Amino acid sequence: MTEPFAAVDVIVAKRDRNELTDPQIDWVVDAYTRGVVADEQMSSLAMAILLNGMTPREISRWTAAMIASGERMDFSSVGRPTTDKHSTGGVGDKITLPLAPVVAACGAAVPQLSGRGLGHTGGTLDKLESIPGWRASLSTEEMLAVLRDVGAVICAAGEHLAPADKKLYALRDVTGTVEAIPLIASSIMSKKIAEGTSALVLDVKVGSGAFMKTQERAAELARTMVALGESAGVRTRALLTAMDTPLGLTAGNALEVRESVEVLAGGGPSDVVELTVLLAREMLDAAGVVGPDPADVLADGRAMDAWNRMIAAQGGDPQAPLPTARESHVVVAERSGVLSRLDALAVGVSAWRLGAGRARKEDPVSAGAGIEMHAKPGDLVVAGAPLLTLHTDDAERFARALTDLEDGVEIADEGTRVDRLPLVLDRIGA
Ligand code: URA
Repeated sequence: MTEPFAAVDVIVAKRDRNELTDPQIDWVVDAYTRGVVADEQMSSLAMAILLNGMTPREISRWTAAMIASGERMDFSSVGRPTTDKHSTGGVGDKITLPLAPVVAACGAAVPQLSGRGLGHTGGTLDKLESIPGWRASLSTEEMLAVLRDVGAVICAAGEHLAPADKKLYALRDVTGTVEAIPLIASSIMSKKIAEGTSALVLDVKVGSGAFMKTQERAAELARTMVALGESAGVRTRALLTAMDTPLGLTAGNALEVRESVEVLAGGGPSDVVELTVLLAREMLDAAGVVGPDPADVLADGRAMDAWNRMIAAQGGDPQAPLPTARESHVVVAERSGVLSRLDALAVGVSAWRLGAGRARKEDPVSAGAGIEMHAKPGDLVVAGAPLLTLHTDDAERFARALTDLEDGVEIADEGTRVDRLPLVLDRIGA
């Protein structure tokens, strides 16, 4: 086949700050997926995009080209409006686990195609895989059956959903080009649009534990993604939420499942409950579903029923004891005062070091590893009282994990004002 462009010309155009044409974009994404554009050429183009940006037209075309690289799913047979949530990733972010059954119990269908974690942020599938028997891989027919019967399914995205993104994301991960807003927005939205949901709520994290460290960058990413969704016919809105400190009191796979079940039982940490309810209301509103309030279905057990059915439908035993790690180590407060800092990135990296996350895609994760937090910023602590419990299967991991935490935990004099980001910083979209 004769190729209509040379990759180097497309790279040079972006390097010299020119706008790429629609045919150039369609070709380069397709040719990269076919293996005609080499990894080193695409990595050079990704760096030029990171440095020089893209116009809204280019981003929209790039997203369309990534969608066209694979198949599109169709949930029209499910019989309820579909609505989904995507988080840009954070530490202790287990919200999908209680959220999907809550929204299902309120009358919408939630097709949640999730990923595994890489680096310091945990992946939803890794968390659920700590439940004995639970299976992440479903055929399209199985997925539709769970969605029809339960109203919520959380499973692995198939290989045919935006394959250009799978290849490009892996390349960006090792070439310092993850942080480009046009590339993040098109990566996330190509998968969500190809998935075929009719409504989408984006949880864009801001702070040390997030991709986006500042509110300005997070808002720009959110606006870009909302525009992409709306122009593809998906009712899309975004909340900008805090990730300066971990969400809830646990970071690690089975530990986060346990905390999610506490939330579904009507308890659990207040930030996890609040964010679950806020996102559920947004998802229902975006899908046009008028039903019971998410706070009520959490409190009266209907969400727990949906969770039990969702887990069982994928082979899991929701009543089985969750795995625990072999070793634990308690970090105590060195002095009395107020916990003034518990940094999300430090806790995330430390939990990863304990075995909760992976360094390479093919690495296994430990189900029981992670960190339990006994206090959150603003809480008073007493010298000698437990602050954190570290869990791992391999005691040799404690030393590095403790070093990672050193600069992330601070206790100040009682009465010191503790500055924390509000849980929700902004809302973008109609
Ligand atoms: N998550 C994605 O799916 N893609 C990105 O580029 C970043 C986060």
